[in-house]
Amino acid sequence: MTLHQNLIAGEWVGGDGIANINPSNTNDVVGEYARATADDAKAAIAAAKAAFPAWSRSGILERHAILKKTADEIMARKDELGRLLSREEGKTLAEGIGETVRAGQIFEFFAGECLRLAGEVIPSVRPNIGVEITREPVGVVGIITPWNFPIAIPAWKIAPALAYGNTVVFKPAELVPGCSWAIADILHRAGLPKGVLNLVMGKGSVVGQAMLESPDIQAITFTGSVGTGKRVAMASVEHNRKFQLEMGGKNPFVVLDDADLSVAVEAAVNSAFFSTGQRCTASSRIIVTEGIHDKFVAAMGERMHGLVVDDALKPGTHIGPVVDQSQLNQDTDYIAIGKQEGAKLAFGGDLIKRDSPGFYLQPALFTDAHNQMRIAREEIFGPVAAVIRVKDYEEALAVANDTPFGLSSGIATTSLKHATHFKRNAEAGMVMVNLPTAGVDFHVPFGGRKGSSYGSREQGKYAAEFYTTVKTAYTLA
Ligand code: NAD
Repeated sequence: MTLHQNLIAGEWVGGDGIANINPSNTNDVVGEYARATADDAKAAIAAAKAAFPAWSRSGILERHAILKKTADEIMARKDELGRLLSREEGKTLAEGIGETVRAGQIFEFFAGECLRLAGEVIPSVRPNIGVEITREPVGVVGIITPWNFPIAIPAWKIAPALAYGNTVVFKPAELVPGCSWAIADILHRAGLPKGVLNLVMGKGSVVGQAMLESPDIQAITFTGSVGTGKRVAMASVEHNRKFQLEMGGKNPFVVLDDADLSVAVEAAVNSAFFSTGQRCTASSRIIVTEGIHDKFVAAMGERMHGLVVDDALKPGTHIGPVVDQSQLNQDTDYIAIGKQEGAKLAFGGDLIKRDSPGFYLQPALFTDAHNQMRIAREEIFGPVAAVIRVKDYEEALAVANDTPFGLSSGIATTSLKHATHFKRNAEAGMVMVNLPTAGVDFHVPFGGRKGSSYGSREQGKYAAEFYTTVKTAYTLA
């Protein structure tokens, strides 16, 4: 089997490989991927540092052309790359292709941003002096990504980093090196000068750690768990480096008595279970007012009954497998914890067998839960959700906000008054009305508050805040 190597200083290097396993069928090896050492990471950082002066001064047309070419190839290969994504991560083929298209759109968007770079010229408060405000690249950017969006998250970090003139050391999650390797290969062939993007696949404790410890990385953008995020933060403070963290969620989805029942059920099922519940924006707390509670739970049960859990690549599959054995253990542990805490497992929660050996779990819905239970406070990151019954809108909002996290927050209601109040008062970076808590546009800011995020927003024009540093220049006329 061909070994997919790391890209360092424009060369494909590395020998020691590891198998990338399909969670829908553990007999299926997606490919062999090299594992970088700490020395490889150091070489990648040195290459990015050496490439920075030229790339930071490169013409905007060159950057535009490379990012546009990358977008075009991703779009042209969306079915093949979407299939690779589904095979290595386990989300359904439709979800895999959808995520791939999104990655293409992100590269397209930032290709355009290269041509829209602008500053400000304003008069000084002092006579005969002009003031120019410009944005400059930050330097070497370290990119560390999780396994649950194998192509979109790398795209929404790499594209702006390059567009604004930074060089990159990119470490993807160990479980899903395939899509990351494909992006690096496309950018390399699109003509990116050597050292501008370096790919170092491997373990977080080795490759990621070497990145955290390097004084030559000026900024780190990280998406992943809260625990690792804190390490990134501490190491970055130590090195006086810019950092941005996108971490966990415990996103609420509120259903009010006046909700359209079918809209509420569709949005709740999507939020809780699509992509196997493995989205940072997934909802695992469904907060339902008492007038609609019983009808809503019954309708959820019926809808869940129709969900097909099977091989991610099979036509007709709605929910693919859990990503690996350790995540599956975490999910089933939380199902056991929910039962011990006194919540009622109303639907699902069983391990299931399919034609191929994979990590299949029937989506689980608890009822009779309350917001202090561990299943309502801790991120499970699987297809497990809990319904919390509340009296009215005011209690629903209070419960929704009673969490250490603040990424996304949703509500199903036909009341303009409640929708408006919720948009203003939900303590989250993103608010959804009559829509799932997950599923966002690629051209607008993405991110959260409280324990979910740290630093400036990702995506859209707001990405410039992280990937550039502002300079104010004064000139005597
Ligand atoms: P993780 O924290 O285990 O790993 C994330 C990345 O950090 C991986 O590449 C990993 O190798 C690396 N890493 C691990 N130890 C490291 C170390 N010591 N130094 C440097 N890097 C290290 O997270 P995961 O399990 O891959 O992803 C799941 C988590 O990601 C969930 O908590 C989820 O909510 C979160 N997530 C958040 C968002 C968001 O935008 N808020 C999006 C997707 C996923």
